[in-house]
Formats: sequence, structure tokens, C-alpha cells
Amino acid sequence: MTQYEPIIGLEIHAQINTRTKMFCSCDNDSFRKEPNVNTCPICMGFPGTLPTVNKEAYLKGLKAAVALNCNIPLFSKFDRKNYFYPDLPKGYQISQYDKPVSANGYIDFEVDGRMKRVGITRLHLEDDAGKLTHEAGGTLCDYNRSGTPLMEIVSDPEIYSTKEASAYAREMQKILRYVGSSDCDMEKGMMRFDINISIRKKGETKFGTKVEVKNLNSFRFLEKALEYEFKRQVEALESGEVVVQETRGFDVKNEVTVSQRTKEEAQDYRYFPEPDLPPMTITAEDIEKLKREIPELPLSRKQRFVSEYGLAQEDARQLTEAPELSDFFEEAAKISGNPKSANAFTTTVLLKHLNEDQVGITQSKITPAMLAELIKLIDSGEISNNVAKGEVFEEMYKEGTPPSAIVERKGLKQVSDTGLIEGLCNKVIEENPEAVEDIKNGKDRAIGSLIGKVMQLSKGQANPGIVADTIKKLIK
Ligand SMILES: [Zn+2]
Repeated sequence: MTQYEPIIGLEIHAQINTRTKMFCSCDNDSFRKEPNVNTCPICMGFPGTLPTVNKEAYLKGLKAAVALNCNIPLFSKFDRKNYFYPDLPKGYQISQYDKPVSANGYIDFEVDGRMKRVGITRLHLEDDAGKLTHEAGGTLCDYNRSGTPLMEIVSDPEIYSTKEASAYAREMQKILRYVGSSDCDMEKGMMRFDINISIRKKGETKFGTKVEVKNLNSFRFLEKALEYEFKRQVEALESGEVVVQETRGFDVKNEVTVSQRTKEEAQDYRYFPEPDLPPMTITAEDIEKLKREIPELPLSRKQRFVSEYGLAQEDARQLTEAPELSDFFEEAAKISGNPKSANAFTTTVLLKHLNEDQVGITQSKITPAMLAELIKLIDSGEISNNVAKGEVFEEMYKEGTPPSAIVERKGLKQVSDTGLIEGLCNKVIEENPEAVEDIKNGKDRAIGSLIGKVMQLSKGQANPGIVADTIKKLIK
């Protein structure tokens, strides 16, 4: 195994998050809808109907292409890709063949702490097919997805391990979300992968025979399919067999790839220019405008979080998983003036709660301003860290109440009144003569247990710093 390496290329299909479909005005959101409610004669492929290009889908596709450092030609066109399948009522897919909206880009991403660059052959636009469900009595056709706008993003064959492929796909998901072109929700089928994989002995430059595995709808399946296919091809070559060029599917249950059909060539699809749609043109000024609209992308934002706020790599990575999360952290950090604390609360406390409830940051009742207020209450000594992380945070999270209101109503203010604290300390000292004796004998650790007891008596509200100083003073 170790003397072989895989050569991997990835094709990613991502749904563009438009209000309507690619070539008609049907609703593009069919999540949890009855089958075949979001359909019309255009996306059902009735004869005599005419498609029109969804401008929003076109611009969002271009925006993604710009973020992937692609060249945007001033002229592009759609083509018909002809094939027959029951999920495709038109009998052809409207795609792009020789004049796609973009080509020759690249993305940079991290794999095991080192940088890797993979070329993007092209990003083109097309429409999706319907969805078939195979049941015991036959096959059910749902055309709600038919005509959904898609970006197909084809990488150069420059990926040399499962780890790299996975990191590439995850970075792509983040970039598409940051530019707002796709929600890339894998569970809703908004992002799917096809892989091309061949193997060769390390040091060789010639490519081996390429096998395609289609329709992988999770990162896990992507990784499993690559691992299985690499092993299968190595074993075939080692036992003197040949690897056949073919299209394979992924058997989710057994986590193996299975032969489906021999690979089609481009000529099998009899591509020709889509006669119902005019070619698309764009000006150099429009492309410049798109470039200006690209926000800071996840990798550079992560690197900036490390350099600007002094965050650890892993925290910065976690905070830049989604644009909304990065924005949340950065706003809380700026308002509170305490990025370290904003990071700690966001990554350990808030994300833990959200993950347990399986919801995203956008559904959080806590706003960045509220979190910043909480941090300020701790920093100014008004409440203790424990009270903040416990009672106050819990109520903020559940009810969305501002922290100062909770502190006020529940009387959670940290006690810094030295007279009151001295009283509590005296009581604890009286009740624990042994600990006091230990402290006098130089066992400093015993101070901790006395501080703990005072904190307990004060229900966590005494200022621990003042408690420590008072105990030391009283015992001396
Ligand atoms: Zn329609």
C-alpha cells in the first residue's frame, strides 16, 4: 500500500441559495414540502416552454468563482447535455460545456498545519434533476428539485490523500457559505461530491486508470469511499488485474464502492448550445464590482484571529467554521474589549450549549452585545466568573434576558464589602482550627480550603481575591 499514492480530483455540486429555480419562477425551497408542489411546465420539461436565466443564481455563481480565484470570461453560454433518465423530464440537463462562466482558479487550505493549494479547473452553472425514491412496488418521482440552480466545481487532479480531499471539501463548504452563494447543508442534499481517483507507484508521473465514484452526500462517505477505492485499486494491481475505467456508486450500508456502468465520454451526451437561452455577457467593470463584494474568506480570517486577538489555532479554526460564528465572536470581542474572554465564552460555553441543542449560532438568544455585557460585569468585578458561567449564562441562554437584569433581579452581585467578608472569614476561621494551624505551620494549600468555605457561605458571591487577602490578614 505504502508504495502507491492516489491521484484525486473532486467534482462538487452545490445548490445556489436563490429564492427561485434556475430557469423558472418556482420556489427553490422544497425542504419538508409535499412531492411535486414546486413544479411548473418549464422545470417539468413540457414541450414549447421557454427557460429564462435566474440572474441572482448567475451572479451568486460568479461570486463563488471569484472567491475561488477563477478567471471570468466576458462571454459564456449554456449547453444541452442530453441523456435519458426518469429524474430528468426534459431529456437533457441545461449545463455548460465549452464556455463556462469561469475557469482556472485555485483554493488554499490547511492540512495538518501545512498549506496546500489545489487548482480549480472550472466552476460552471447547471440545473439539478428530480429525485427518485426506489420502493418495493416501484419508483417514486419527485420533481421539486428539478431545475434547482447548481454550481459544479471541478478541481484539478492535485489531491494526493483522503485527508487532503476532506480538507479541500470542508474549505470549499466554508468559502461558499462565506460568500453567501450556497448554504451547503449536507443533510438537505445541498452539497454532493463525485470523486475521480486513480493510483500510481510513488515517483511515477504517468496517471493510472481513473475511476469515478458518484453522489457522495457527506464528508464521512467521501472519506470512506476514497479509502475503500484506494485499497481496491492497489489490491487489483498487486494481483495482476487491471483497473477498469468506470463509474461506481457508494454502498452506504457496507461502506464499499460498487460498479454501476462504464464511464460515458463527452460525445455520449451530444452537447450542443442551448437554443432557448441567449449567451451571457459581462463587463470587466461588473467583474471588478463582484471582486469588491467578496468578504474576508475563512482562512485569512482564521489567521487574523490568531495574529490580532492572540487566539490558539484550534479556537480560531472553530470560530471561523461559519461566517455567522466569526461575526458573533468578533463583535463580542470588540464591544467587551476582551477577546480572550469572548473566545472562551463562545467556544466553550455557548457552542457547547448550542451543540447539545443541535442548533446554530443564528438561533442563539444571546447576542454578541449581551455576551460582551456579561464579560464586562466579570471584568469590573461586579459578578464572579462562576456566577457568570452558571446562573446568569443559563438564563441568558434560555430566555435571552440581558445579564445585568438577571444580576439585579436575583441579587447576584459579587460582594466586595470588606466588613461583610471579614465577618464570614472570622466564622470560617473559628470553625476550622486545624486548617488555621496548618496555615500557621506554612502549609499554604490549606488557605484554598478556607477560601472555598467562605465562598460557599456567600453563595459564590464574595469576591475571591478579597476573601484570600482577608483570611491571610486575619490569621497573621
Ligand atoms: Zn418550475
